[in-house]
Amino acid sequence: MQKGNISVQSENIFPIIKKFLYSDQEIFLRELVANAVDATTKLQALASKGEYNGELGDLTIEVILDKKAKTLTIRDKGIGMTEEEVKKYLNQIAISSAEEFLEKYKSESNIIGKFGLGFYSAFMVADRVDVETKSWQADAAPVKWSCEGSPSYRITKSKKKERGTDVILHISKDSEEFLDENRIEELLQKYCKFLPVPIKFGKKKETIETEEKGKKKTKVVEVDNIINNPHPAWKKPANELTDDDYLKFYEELYPHSFQKPLFWIHLNIDYPFNLTGILYFPKLNNSLEIQKNKIHLYCNQVYVTDDVKEVVPEYLTLLHGVIDSPDIPLNVSRSYLQSDSNVRKITGYITKKVAEKLNELFKADRKAFEEKWQDLGVFVKYGMMSDEKFHEKALDFLLLKNVDGEYFTLKEYKDKVKENQTDKNKKIVLLYTNNPEEHHSQIDDAKAMGYDVLVFDTMIDTHFIQHLEYHDNEISFARVDADTLDKLIKKEDEKESVLNEEEKKTVKETFEALTSELKGATVVLSSLSPDDFPVQITRPEFLRRMKEMQALSGGAGMPGFDEMFNVVINTNHPVVAKKLLSTSSEDERKNLAKQLLDLAMLKQGMLKGADLTNFVKNNLEALSK
Ligand code: ADP
Repeated sequence: MQKGNISVQSENIFPIIKKFLYSDQEIFLRELVANAVDATTKLQALASKGEYNGELGDLTIEVILDKKAKTLTIRDKGIGMTEEEVKKYLNQIAISSAEEFLEKYKSESNIIGKFGLGFYSAFMVADRVDVETKSWQADAAPVKWSCEGSPSYRITKSKKKERGTDVILHISKDSEEFLDENRIEELLQKYCKFLPVPIKFGKKKETIETEEKGKKKTKVVEVDNIINNPHPAWKKPANELTDDDYLKFYEELYPHSFQKPLFWIHLNIDYPFNLTGILYFPKLNNSLEIQKNKIHLYCNQVYVTDDVKEVVPEYLTLLHGVIDSPDIPLNVSRSYLQSDSNVRKITGYITKKVAEKLNELFKADRKAFEEKWQDLGVFVKYGMMSDEKFHEKALDFLLLKNVDGEYFTLKEYKDKVKENQTDKNKKIVLLYTNNPEEHHSQIDDAKAMGYDVLVFDTMIDTHFIQHLEYHDNEISFARVDADTLDKLIKKEDEKESVLNEEEKKTVKETFEALTSELKGATVVLSSLSPDDFPVQITRPEFLRRMKEMQALSGGAGMPGFDEMFNVVINTNHPVVAKKLLSTSSEDERKNLAKQLLDLAMLKQGMLKGADLTNFVKNNLEALSK
């Protein structure tokens, strides 16, 4: 027997490992199985180079739970280690002192892997670790290494006959959750589902159909419980995969998903960095309320995380699928990741690929693309707002939909409405509605004037409209109910009012007496065309947008803000200019004004309760007279 000390100068590194990695304890299993996979693929590599000529045999890695002995064993049939190698690899921790280590990486929450601590993560859950190993090299004697979480270790002879390595964890008292089959199964499913070497964890029952003497029977049999699919779709060349393969793989990734993805992108690049993967476009159904964290990040088929915020731009986290790259520094802090140039390149690459795919779909079959826009639109808009580069590319396939259900690119739309909807400041005014039903009468008026109206009804459109305006100073947006149409698309200066100041005052006061009880109403006099409505209700764009932005950013918004509206009186309309001012009594004037106001409110669906009842009553009375 040999005794020795693990070469860490500090007294004991293990309490530090435990302390700092506590939150992520469960990853010990990933680290140990990944080591087993490494050892196995190394052997395969030796065999293919002809350096190893022995029998490879079944290379399945086994995870074995022994509840009685309170051990968890990871067994591989890989290259194994000689005594020299055990000393070299397992005993040297590449840090000069634990203090320095601690000082330097206090803030890093997950340093495993980066410092070759993978194997030592075993001590997060075990108070003793035994390694029994036999090297692939001819005549290598098997050895047993044993360590109890202190810097001293023992090496003894081993009776191990098979090539490979057993790592036996004696699970500590406070980690007994890892003696639970379900917990281990869950962890293996999470971290090892696509590792390149088969991994077996116990047995499972399977129902099979048999035929005995022409009779069909079902039989329950016990079979090996193989955790993983060693050949996941993303590792295969795209031209070998059918649509069906992609859809099947989607199911494999998200077994509980009901909806099929819209389409997908197969990523594959090996210069200037290495990355493979498949990204799926889910159905967004007009909302961002779908689950994020659906993209799984892998490193050589080892699951790392589903928190990909730092690797892919935020808007791409709406996508589903897998990214696999050995070039993403996986085990370091967030701030480091963001400044890493590889990560930035990867982000750029994915953005480019996504934009290319969308452009390709748009060009190949515009109609189909338009049909998918309901699901894609939110994504594209979100992307444009988050990423300048994506914005530029997306201008080629961003679609605007009008109230007649026609789709246009921004450029097409500007060309379409330019002539009719350019105002006196040379801005092209894009009219829109967020609710065609509610704005029916305004849309109707706009159409009568030869204007077109767009539909912007997704939750991010308030932001998106600002975004487009900011990037294109030829255009400005106005909701159809934001003002009277001739003010929205102002082609010339305001007409002279036919009323004098005295008359204006009378009109204004008459209406103000009526609206004083209406919450949020402001009376505005306006000299419109005599053909325009005598009284109109508008909701000023600026105030409304402020309110919407506040609501989106979670603010409460100003109280009563949404109820603010203008009552616009057309002082040039004959009913106002002549009839109202020539009434014989104040009462009569009030009644007429009330009726005009009621009509305007009715047109907006704002006339309710007693006001509506009275309006109907009065009208009936007038008819029966
Ligand atoms: P890393 O895997 O990052 O190099 P680890 O601490 O996980 O660091 O492992 C240290 C070394 O121990 C490995 O590089 C490998 O040489 C050796 N090793 C660990 N596990 C095994 C195993 N199952 N079979 C053979 N060698 C192993």
